[in-house]
Amino acid sequence: MQIKPTKLSLVERLYLPEIARGVAVTTGHFVRNMVLHVLHLFGVAKDRQAMVTVQYPEQRKEYTEGYRGSHRLTLKPDGSVRCTSCFLCATACPAKCIHIEAGEHPDASVEKFPLRYEIDTLQCIYCGMCVEACPCDAIRMDTYVHPRIWGYRREDFVETKQVLMERSHILETRGRDALMEDMLREYREAEALAAEGR
Ligand code: SF4
Ligand code: SF4
Repeated sequence: MQIKPTKLSLVERLYLPEIARGVAVTTGHFVRNMVLHVLHLFGVAKDRQAMVTVQYPEQRKEYTEGYRGSHRLTLKPDGSVRCTSCFLCATACPAKCIHIEAGEHPDASVEKFPLRYEIDTLQCIYCGMCVEACPCDAIRMDTYVHPRIWGYRREDFVETKQVLMERSHILETRGRDALMEDMLREYREAEALAAEGR
């Protein structure tokens, strides 16, 4: 069945009236919420709920079982990295944010391994194509943790091979909640340092 394209009215095609309408809706919500929050500070209009966003990372919504989290590099039983540096994930990545440097493995039965494996999370769009592309289940996004949300330099958001491997180690030894607890601890430490002006 052929889907007919929706016809836009003349006003919609002019765009500006629609932009003004959008700004009016946003401003209306903003003013309403600000007024209500101020009134609540003085104990007034407590029965009228003002909207709040989830105060992440201190608060989190319940994640569904299918929720994707940050990446991790899976490990072999001996704790070494499973990745064989085939570059399929980097090739499939639409954001081109996976950077791999392959090295010869000391074990002749293993062709290659990543000397360097980095994901620039500022560029990543969390599409999961890298996970789909990997032929040996070496990269997963089942950690249930959000990407890092703080940092002052670009490097703070680049996840290295060590970070990605450590996530698998923590998941296997201490479970999902530990990943979140560790992230929260790091976040609070960074916040405390920032508050001290360091
Ligand atoms: S989730 Fe998507 S954008 Fe992010 S590293 Fe994987 S393939 Fe690239
Ligand atoms: S993570 Fe998988 S797809 Fe990416 S280089 Fe390693 S083995 Fe290849």
